[in-house]
Amino acid sequence: MPNDESDAISAFGPDFPFAYDDWLAHPAGLGAVPAEKHGARVAIIGAGAAGLVAGYELMRLGLRPVLYESARLGGRLRSQRFEGTEGIVAELGGMRFPVSSRGFYHYVDLLGLETRPFPNPLTPAAGSTVIDLEGETLYARTLDDLPPLYREVAAAYHQALEDGAQFSALQAAMRARDAQRIKAIWDPIVQAWDERTFYDFVVSSQAFRKLSFRHREVFGQVGFGTGGWDSDFPNSMLEILRVNLGGFDDEQRYVVGGVEQVAQGIWRQAPEKLTYWPAGTTLAGLNAGATRGRAQAIAHNGKGGFAVMDQWGNRDDYEAVVVTCQSHLLTTSIDAEESLFDQKLWMALDRTRYMQAAKTFVMVDRPFWKDKDPDTGRDRMSMTLTDRITRGTYLFDNGDDRPGVICLSYSWMTDALKVLPLPAERRVELALSALSKIYPGLDIAGHIIGSPICVSWEADENFLGAFKGALPGHYRYNHRMYGHFMQADLPESQRGIFMAGDGVSWTPAWVEGAVQTALNAVWGVMTHLGGRSPDGNPGPGDLYPALKPVDLVD
Ligand code: FAD
Repeated sequence: MPNDESDAISAFGPDFPFAYDDWLAHPAGLGAVPAEKHGARVAIIGAGAAGLVAGYELMRLGLRPVLYESARLGGRLRSQRFEGTEGIVAELGGMRFPVSSRGFYHYVDLLGLETRPFPNPLTPAAGSTVIDLEGETLYARTLDDLPPLYREVAAAYHQALEDGAQFSALQAAMRARDAQRIKAIWDPIVQAWDERTFYDFVVSSQAFRKLSFRHREVFGQVGFGTGGWDSDFPNSMLEILRVNLGGFDDEQRYVVGGVEQVAQGIWRQAPEKLTYWPAGTTLAGLNAGATRGRAQAIAHNGKGGFAVMDQWGNRDDYEAVVVTCQSHLLTTSIDAEESLFDQKLWMALDRTRYMQAAKTFVMVDRPFWKDKDPDTGRDRMSMTLTDRITRGTYLFDNGDDRPGVICLSYSWMTDALKVLPLPAERRVELALSALSKIYPGLDIAGHIIGSPICVSWEADENFLGAFKGALPGHYRYNHRMYGHFMQADLPESQRGIFMAGDGVSWTPAWVEGAVQTALNAVWGVMTHLGGRSPDGNPGPGDLYPALKPVDLVD
């Protein structure tokens, strides 16, 4: 863990302030199921972060997780290797992981993976940053190098957060892990902002109202921390606040060699402590070395459990099911028996709104961008934020004697749709054309080696979108999906199937949400099978009645 100061900000709340990291680290473990349930089969749909974490922890409890995966192990933790290289990868999904993601880093540390600071704009890891807006190009190392307008924008957003969301007080409560204080401040904010957008928050704030349209425009293009956030302007403000409050946009790191190693690592990791299974047992071993294919149908099996059929028509019985794929795939990819869920939950699952995202990567012969321009003394090329089609360009230095990687373009929503139908070569041409206007005379293409790698998550039937982006008025839907692991009050026929994944979490687009909801599902399955948390280490479901997210009246 790169930053384990006890008072550092972490993804503790604000909706459900439960310490997942402490629960995981407790020497008493997560709990136990009755011995007669040891070896009980649990189907896990999807082998992304949530499915693997759920599978790993359920295996440690002595259960038999059987994973189904329709695409690639790791899901949206996908590191695609450039052909012919060792460890030179394009991070097609998650790529920068804030140290506040304590649940996620529990597994990174368990696997002993190396992380380094992510080259975000205006950070030492990037070295230099170029901001190109409306044809004006600025070169900076820190915010202080930029014209006053940029500092005014940054100051205005800080002020808006203070005025509109008691930001410092709320973060102090999160740092102190003071759950009651967090709820006292956060719950009224939920009431006030669920139905209002991020853009509304910015334009209606006193801090921005004093400033010009240009300030709001620059804020949208350059944003805070990681880059432009105007693609999120239509989203519910609550979602943005959670990112800011939980430090998701700060102190981000990348996994050297690719984040997919986390997925592969969990799959192959033999836990030090586990119940029932012999030492050395792994998820890979329990699954005979590979996942099942696509889950095609899920239904009650008439024996109090579930039947899952894979794409080849193989049907197996399970005592519980954990579904981790994006929720709209329960309609498009899986024939899910309607009676598995209440209609109100179906509404939430189907109304979940997914954002689009596209990335275009090339490999280059070396990190040539560090060469100095003889006239200006500046880096030849920098991490670049622009209003042009590329939006964000990121530079990955794998060492002076190794190929470098350029993410020519990382874009969302409309910008991602612009390239959706285009082949990789055309995407690269468009990106190079935009960058040539920012860096006239720089021959980026002359450094490219190998073939480009690109992704549009919305074009892949196994995802149909990059990640949830909750719209105004979606809090109730989120609440239904997130709280579904608490099943004591559900009719018998709706128990035993659990959902996990960042899409049902409060922090979509962040792997921490996938990990936290996977742990909720672990508690849910354990309890469903008659198990419970150990004394002294209450689980999320034990504390849910006291700490659960606020209910909004219908
Ligand atoms: P997934 O990874 O989607 O796993 C679900 C799995 O279910 C998939 O593998 C899918 O193939 C499979 N599946 C679908 N249908 C079926 C079926 N019928 N049967 C069986 N399997 C099925 N997070 C960060 O923390 N930092 C970042 O910088 C970051 N950037 C991101 C950038 C992009 C472009 C994207 C797309 C995501 C990013 N994320 C980031 C989010 C992070 O990648 C996700 O939160 C996390 O990987 C989600 O894990 P999951 O298990 O919830 O879902």
